[in-house]
Amino acid sequence: MSVHPYDALIIGAGHNGLVAANYLAKAGKKVLVLERRDVAGGQLARHVFGDGFAVDPIHPGGLLRPDIIADLGLGKFGFDGKPAARAPYIALLPGGQRLHLVAAGNDAATLESIRTLSAKDAQAWPAFVNFMDKAAAFLDAAYRTAMPRLPNVNFRREGLPLAKLGWTLRRLGGRDMFGVIRTLSMSLVAFTQEWFESEPLRAAIAAVGIHGHTLGSMSAGGGFTLIHNWRNRGGLAHAPVAGGTARIADTLVAALQARGGQVRCGAAVTRVLVDKQRATGVQLTSGERIAAKAVLCDADPRHALLELVGARELPPEFVWATQSIRMRGAVAKVHLRTDGRHGIPEGTLAHAPTLKYLERAFDASKYGEISAAPYLEITTDADIVSVHFQFAPYTLRGATWAEQRGPLERLAVATLAEHFPALPASIRQIASILPTDLESTWGLTEGDLNHGQLQIDQMFFMRPIPGWSNHRTPIDGLWLCGSGVHGGGGISGASGRNAARAALGASSR
Ligand SMILES: Cc1cc2nc3c(=O)[nH]c(=O)nc-3n(C[C@H](O)[C@H](O)[C@H](O)COP(=O)(O)OP(=O)(O)OC[C@H]3O[C@@H](n4cnc5c(N)ncnc54)[C@H](O)[C@@H]3O)c2cc1C
Repeated sequence: MSVHPYDALIIGAGHNGLVAANYLAKAGKKVLVLERRDVAGGQLARHVFGDGFAVDPIHPGGLLRPDIIADLGLGKFGFDGKPAARAPYIALLPGGQRLHLVAAGNDAATLESIRTLSAKDAQAWPAFVNFMDKAAAFLDAAYRTAMPRLPNVNFRREGLPLAKLGWTLRRLGGRDMFGVIRTLSMSLVAFTQEWFESEPLRAAIAAVGIHGHTLGSMSAGGGFTLIHNWRNRGGLAHAPVAGGTARIADTLVAALQARGGQVRCGAAVTRVLVDKQRATGVQLTSGERIAAKAVLCDADPRHALLELVGARELPPEFVWATQSIRMRGAVAKVHLRTDGRHGIPEGTLAHAPTLKYLERAFDASKYGEISAAPYLEITTDADIVSVHFQFAPYTLRGATWAEQRGPLERLAVATLAEHFPALPASIRQIASILPTDLESTWGLTEGDLNHGQLQIDQMFFMRPIPGWSNHRTPIDGLWLCGSGVHGGGGISGASGRNAARAALGASSR
């Protein structure tokens, strides 16, 4: 093995790995990104199911951080990060009724739509949007702030950014500051009750809070996940990217290559090479070894630490804590190629009629069952209809996913057909992504979308595990940069950028 042909290897070409690689390359480092799949982009890569049925498989939209777009000069590659359009968030209600919501306090159509349910709620809407925007801005500031490895704080390096974050919270003003702190731990039932009286409106908002998370409307911490997703979407509806979300990844690859960085697809890492507690490179499944001064890993922390490094190289209590990271995928996606006559309007549509409906959908997953009455979120891209399905637990009781694909697809279509009777006849092809597919194809342990549940006890200075929140690991020169560390999930790029900065800071000391 040659000595250090690269300054840094990045395991995984998800957007966070690509963001980290770009920051390192921008700082003059020689970087190589290694991706196990035959395509770069991780969860953002375009997917072809067969017969040319190509989709953005996971995300109908995404907002890469504007400061990352500016830092990396992505505008030069034709990417400004601005949403292509702002379609509404539409709650599908029984009896064909619909609630149209735009996350703006002064949107006349939204206020009118809410007024049909409750005049009092329409009056409360502007203050609610204002509060959510402030809460999301605070979370955004928290995600861009590197977390110290509590209980140790390096006051020179970490103290000032932390003090700034505290000041950001204080500046919200007494009422909103306490509001944000309280909301983080509240259930969605309790939180929405403080703002609104109308059940359909409360359920529509709560659905955004449980989207992608394994919790129900009555679970503690739903307030936090709602603020997280509001930050991620810039409100309630997804923010579509012109040309599709894969453009984010494609642009990051182009920017990296322009800086002299390389991406190798079809290069699965099987081992991080460690010598005397220091990462020295990686080994691929082909047996090839590549040396580097540093290794950054965009794969989830359990895969990175337990499979690629291995328990033998790590302190026992660290191994135990890593094994204990909760990873509990419970999401499936169903993509329908139609003849275009599906009858579904543009926007982000939610089938989540009541708070109890959401809680019951979640209940099923607690017992290893697919929700009989699922929460669905629907988006369209011309003739393609994409359905986000919850809950579909990774571990099924008394059944296997191989036999449940058809039933899940049929259930998704039948549930949607209640609102859109023309849909079933318009379908030409169905393709689904089950939690087991998320693991086998997308490399997500237990199908966990966020590389570890985004719940309050696994966040901030406790992500990925308490005491290890600054991207470091017990192996010198091995850094974690994916969604499983502070700044993730979503597709903001924060964890990739923060990790690159930490690695660059260490290399300059
Ligand atoms: C259906 C769905 C809905 C979602 N909704 C939301 C949401 O509402 N809110 C939210 O915050 N987040 C959501 N997410 C999660 C969000 O998409 C992810 O957090 C984010 O995309 C992860 O980006 P990443 O770069 O960290 O990792 P990934 O995109 O997962 O990339 C990791 C890369 O590492 C590669 N890799 C893994 N192991 C190896 C190896 N050994 N060798 C080489 N390469 C390897 C993988 O192939 C992959 O390309 C959702 C995800 C899904 C699937």
